[in-house]
Amino acid sequence: MLGSGTSHGVPAIGCDCAVCRSTDPRDRRTRPSILIELQGDGPLPPLSRAVRSILVDTSTDLRAQALANNIRRVDAVLFTHSHADHVLGLDETRAFNRVQQQTIACYASAETGADLRRMFEYIFSGPRQPGGGVPQLQLFSIAGRFTMGGVEIVPVPLFHGELPVLGFRVGRFAYLTDCSRIPDASWPLLDGVGTIILDALRETSHPTHFNLSEALAVVSRLKPDRAYFTHICHELSHEATCARLPAGVELAYDGLVLEID
Ligand SMILES: [Zn+2]
Ligand SMILES: [Zn+2]
Ligand SMILES: [Zn+2]
Repeated sequence: MLGSGTSHGVPAIGCDCAVCRSTDPRDRRTRPSILIELQGDGPLPPLSRAVRSILVDTSTDLRAQALANNIRRVDAVLFTHSHADHVLGLDETRAFNRVQQQTIACYASAETGADLRRMFEYIFSGPRQPGGGVPQLQLFSIAGRFTMGGVEIVPVPLFHGELPVLGFRVGRFAYLTDCSRIPDASWPLLDGVGTIILDALRETSHPTHFNLSEALAVVSRLKPDRAYFTHICHELSHEATCARLPAGVELAYDGLVLEID
């Protein structure tokens, strides 16, 4: 879990609330992202010599997250959607190009891919000066399930307000950030999920994010072994919120490591 915070991050600039002033490190939340490290040796994704490390989104805080978690390679990037908090760290991927000496494969829906090409024109279609500091990325469109590193990646269509976005399922694990509705057709894709990371912005309702009670309703329907909430704003203190969540449900925090069978 690289980042468990909402788009502003926690603490928020200029805020003196109790959570923003908290000394609990779990109340310091960078922008939302996870890294999936695969075990085993299945087939490799395109362009990669050895995939073992899949980044989900390139958050605004990617550089700090990579340093804090000692991330030394990224073999592929999956994008959930193109909101600023999920993509504005894209330029940092050139550090991995440099270390790995290879182009990195990026996967996004056609809509998100089009946004990325427009927002990062200097990367995807700008003049590339050899030796310059432009990330070397190759963008692939997600059109259904695909396999990399020996595991199947299942895109899970979600709604983030009116915006279609993707969650991802890998084996019995699912990551559903930034969503306020799971469409009927996506529930079967989540059958039998054991560990889920799910959007839960705050206590009160919000037009584009699940709040705590909506996220808990998803958990009661899916009945995973364990659930972690993410995209958390400064209204939720880690300790006080976890104390009143049901067994098997807790707030995620930056640096959390989950072992998934
Ligand atoms: Zn977000
Ligand atoms: Zn605050
Ligand atoms: Zn968003």
